[in-house]
Amino acid sequence: MKQKILQSGPISPALDGRLAETWDVVRLWADPTPAEALADIRAVVTSPGAGCDAALMDRLPKLGAIVNFGVGYDKVDVAAARARGVVVSNTPGVLDECVADLGMALILDVLRGTVAGDRFVRAGSWTSGPFPPATRVWGKRLGIVGLGRIGSALARRAEAFRMSIAYHNRSPVEGIPYPRHASVADLAAWADVLVLTLPGGAATRHIVSSDELEALGPNGFLVNIARGSVVDTAALIAALRHGRIGGAALDVFENEPHVPDELKSFDNVVLLPHLGSATRETRRAMEDLTFDNAATWFAEGRLITPV
Ligand code: NAP
Repeated sequence: MKQKILQSGPISPALDGRLAETWDVVRLWADPTPAEALADIRAVVTSPGAGCDAALMDRLPKLGAIVNFGVGYDKVDVAAARARGVVVSNTPGVLDECVADLGMALILDVLRGTVAGDRFVRAGSWTSGPFPPATRVWGKRLGIVGLGRIGSALARRAEAFRMSIAYHNRSPVEGIPYPRHASVADLAAWADVLVLTLPGGAATRHIVSSDELEALGPNGFLVNIARGSVVDTAALIAALRHGRIGGAALDVFENEPHVPDELKSFDNVVLLPHLGSATRETRRAMEDLTFDNAATWFAEGRLITPV
C-alpha cells in the first residue's frame, strides 16, 4: 500500500504528478480533510504560499517530515516541528543564481528605468520629447542585507558592474572583501542601493521601516527579492509618496498576490509577481530536490537538505 502524504497547497502540475505516482496524496485545499483522512499522513509537502503551522501539525498524529518547496521556509513553524520530533527540509543552492539574476535585473531596471521607458514608448510619449535621464548603475554602492547564498551570488554580479559592496548580517562572514555594517540603518545610510536577501519570518519582520528608508535617502533605491514581510509596506509607501527615497523594485509583497494600489501608481517603482526562482530550469531543479527529499526520507529516514 502506498504511504500517505499531504500537500498543504497547490504546486506545479509536474511535481504534483510525480508525488501522486509515488504516494497516496491528500490535497489539503481540494480534498475533504476529516480527521480520518489525515490520520495516516507521514509527510507534508508544502507549496510556496502555504507552509505548515502548528495547528496543521496537531491534526497529523503520524507526521515525521515537512518537505518545503523553496529555500525560504518562513511559513513552516520549525520550532513547533522540532518540538514534535518532525524534521524539515528546503531547497537551498539550486536557485541562487536565478534569484541573483533577477535581483540584478531589478537593480538595472529601477536605476535605469527600462520598464518605465518601455511604458513611455508604448504610450506614444516619445514623439513629444525624450525620456528623462535616469541613474547610473556602475560605480554605485550596493548594500546587501543578508549576505548568504543568494546575496553572495548577487555580489558576484554587482562586482562585474563595478559596484562597491558592503553588507549587514547578524554575524560577520569570514574571508570576503566586503565591509560589514552593524545595522540595516547604517548600511542604508552608506548605500545607493539597498538590496534585501535575508529570510522572512517573525525575526526579520519590518526590518526595513521608516528609519532605514530615511537613512537610504532621496537618491537611494530599495530592492526586495527576499520576502514581503521584511519591509514595512506602509512606511515604504509614505517614503515614496514624499520622495524620501529614489525608488523601489519589489519581487515580493506582504500580502501576495495582492499589491497595494498606491504602489502601482508610482513610476519609480518596479513590481514583479514573485519571479525570483521562476525559470523552467530552476523550478525543475527545485521540484527534483523536493521530490528527492521526500523519497529519501521515506526510504532512509533522512532528508538530503534539512534546515
Ligand atoms: P541564506 O544562505 O541562509 O542567507 C541568508 C542570510 O541572511 C545569511 O547571510 C544570514 O546571516 C542573513 N540573516 C538572517 N537573519 C538576519 C537578520 N535578522 N538580520 C540580518 N541578516 C540576517 O539564504 P538564501 O538561500 O540566500 O535565501 C535568502 C532568502 O531569500 C530566503 O530565505 C527566501 O526568503 C528568499 N528567496 C526569495 C526568492 C524570490 O523568489 N524572490 C527566491 C528564493 C529565496 P546571519 O545568520 O549571520 O544573520
